Amino acid sequence: MDAKEKALLKKKIEETIVSTAQKIEDLEELTRPIGPENSIGRVSRMDAINNKSVAEATLRSTKRKYESLKMALNRIDRENFGACSRCGQNIPPARLMYMPESTRCVRCADR
Ligand SMILES: [Zn+2]
Repeated sequence: MDAKEKALLKKKIEETIVSTAQKIEDLEELTRPIGPENSIGRVSRMDAINNKSVAEATLRSTKRKYESLKMALNRIDRENFGACSRCGQNIPPARLMYMPESTRCVRCADR
């Protein structure tokens, strides 16, 4: 990965961190405690509970992604950035652009 690719990737990570933080805020809004049955009705309350558990799962994975993005941003200026943490091969820049938080090459990530 050359300096130009790195600069592009850095910008991409920074943008993704901003949009991910926004997504976390939205999801936190969706995972607020649900009101009692008599205020919203039984069926819509069940819907709300379903939606809430989906949103909670998404929130957890989005928070993990957010942390990995921040770590990627800390790592990016290091010499060995972009090397697979398992086999040491360079991760293709295209993969890092698509998933900046990845620390493994495609082959190792699948294992
Ligand atoms: Zn690997």
